[in-house]
Amino acid sequence: MLRITELRLPLDHPEPALRAAIVARLGIPDDQLTGFTVFKRGYDARKKTAIVLSYTVDCELVDEAPVRARLAADSHVRPSPDTRYRHLAHAPADFFAAGRPRPVVVGFGPCGLFAALVLAQMGLHPLVLERGRAVRQRTKDTWGLWRQGVLDAESNVQFGEGGAGTFSDGKLWSQISDPRHLTRKVLTEFVQAGAPDEILYVSKPHIGTFRLVSMIEKMRAQIESLGGEIRFEARVTDLHIEDGAVRGLALASGELIDAQHVVLALGHSARDTFTMLHGRGVYMEAKPFSIGVRIEHPQGLIDRARFGPSAGHPLLGAADYKLVHHAKNGRSVYSFCMCPGGTVVAATSEAERVVTNGMSQYSRNERNANAGIVVGINPQDYRQDGLSEGPVSPLDGMAFQRFWESRAFELGGGGYRAPGQLLADFVKRQPSVALGNVEPSYKPGVTLTDLTGRAGPPALPAYVTAAMREALPAFERQIPGFAMPDAVLTGVETRTSSPLRITRGRDYQSLNVRGLYPAGEGAGYAGGIMSAGVDGIEAAEAVATQMLGLVPA
Ligand SMILES: Cc1cc2nc3c(=O)[nH]c(=O)nc-3n(C[C@H](O)[C@H](O)[C@H](O)COP(=O)(O)OP(=O)(O)OC[C@H]3O[C@@H](n4cnc5c(N)ncnc54)[C@H](O)[C@@H]3O)c2cc1C
Repeated sequence: MLRITELRLPLDHPEPALRAAIVARLGIPDDQLTGFTVFKRGYDARKKTAIVLSYTVDCELVDEAPVRARLAADSHVRPSPDTRYRHLAHAPADFFAAGRPRPVVVGFGPCGLFAALVLAQMGLHPLVLERGRAVRQRTKDTWGLWRQGVLDAESNVQFGEGGAGTFSDGKLWSQISDPRHLTRKVLTEFVQAGAPDEILYVSKPHIGTFRLVSMIEKMRAQIESLGGEIRFEARVTDLHIEDGAVRGLALASGELIDAQHVVLALGHSARDTFTMLHGRGVYMEAKPFSIGVRIEHPQGLIDRARFGPSAGHPLLGAADYKLVHHAKNGRSVYSFCMCPGGTVVAATSEAERVVTNGMSQYSRNERNANAGIVVGINPQDYRQDGLSEGPVSPLDGMAFQRFWESRAFELGGGGYRAPGQLLADFVKRQPSVALGNVEPSYKPGVTLTDLTGRAGPPALPAYVTAAMREALPAFERQIPGFAMPDAVLTGVETRTSSPLRITRGRDYQSLNVRGLYPAGEGAGYAGGIMSAGVDGIEAAEAVATQMLGLVPA
């Protein structure tokens, strides 16, 4: 097969135009093209009055060789890469007959899900331990916080089957380098579990919350049908290490589990588990992350700014954006996890703390666009702000996050209401007293205040709010209307990524504990559903390499 990249056609092109464009591009008669599939479809909206679609297509020809030879110098026509996933090996049927312990996966977010799936597909019968509940019950528990202000600390936006990305926009793209096409494996498994086929070819695929729920259940069933076991409400509370190697795990119930290979796919909110691992001497280090607020605008404003007269076109959907500003104080301010046509959600997993994030349904048809507007934080900042005491610790970032999440709870006035401010007031540093044209979507509700600290305790460090006050008007130049006075800022967004890294070697094992495979977002090796899923696959391969005695790649 031949792959053509950057085949550009107008947004409203008739369907046959794509085939015609392929034939013209390859310089062949139509009957020489026996078939084609769209590998990717993106758009170029730089010129709003003439938005173009950009295709990557895989083509089957009657005779490929002469076309390849003729177009050898054309970098946009190349042999299609083989993107199929191949398992490293399959365990023999009697592999566990001698009573050897199964591999254990701690956490059933995207990383743990893909680690368990790939282990199961290799015949390695993984045992998954997940502290939260199965996804349907978890959905009810999460609604309890959003509707009634009642938090279940073990079953919420962060914890439970499907992990942190379950109540999300389900954006499925990533900027990781992917020479083995592992993102394709993730997307293909999602489609087999019920995701729309289009995620395989649109340039910025997303699934939305409701579909994710049923997909995760199907993937769980597949793992179980292959001999895996998934246990909910099974919180790991201790790690048994002997001679520098994992020997077992303890659960909150008191149960002890023998284990020699443990994938730690904890997510960024497993603060109690990080503390336990640190106490057991597992090597970890503080890492940078970002904090800020969620911002909400009318989605129509973003659509018009991005797509001009084509706003609302079904192939374009609700518009997203990506913004960056380098502030005078040396901080980077950027948009994070933008959710077109979505809602801002309460995302805490700890009592009396407020954390924001965003989600959408597949349709992305809610009134508001929301995104995190966040500022980069370094490990030195935790100390500079006086929020950590005693010797410098990899856990300092957690203390920093907790401080600002508690402050947000306080400023919100309790009941998990979040503090908010209108954009114009934020820039002028005056408290907001009434909403304008943008109704914030965060539930249980928003309490208007001053986030900048001029009229009371600040919601964020001064260097963060100063950088944001500079950035918001600057973003207006990229998206006209972005700095509208009524846009609502809701705080605080503190869990943009893990505040620490559980460092591992090339073999995916912890630097100082053999048999421990830190993976995914919590370990500091992923930032999103796709990258966490890919990291889970690679962690599973690393476990299989050890367990089956394979030669490392
Ligand atoms: C509201 C929201 C929206 C998001 N939207 C997107 C998006 O649109 N696109 C995107 O790419 N990313 C999004 N993200 C980020 C994405 O969800 C994460 O990057 C991803 O889930 C990380 O995967 P993970 O498997 O590494 O960790 P997690 O998904 O956090 O999973 C970790 C799991 O480990 C479990 N666990 C923790 N400690 C223990 C323990 N001691 N014992 C047993 N189990 C434990 C937790 O309960 C959890 O289920 C969003 C996140 C949130 C919160």
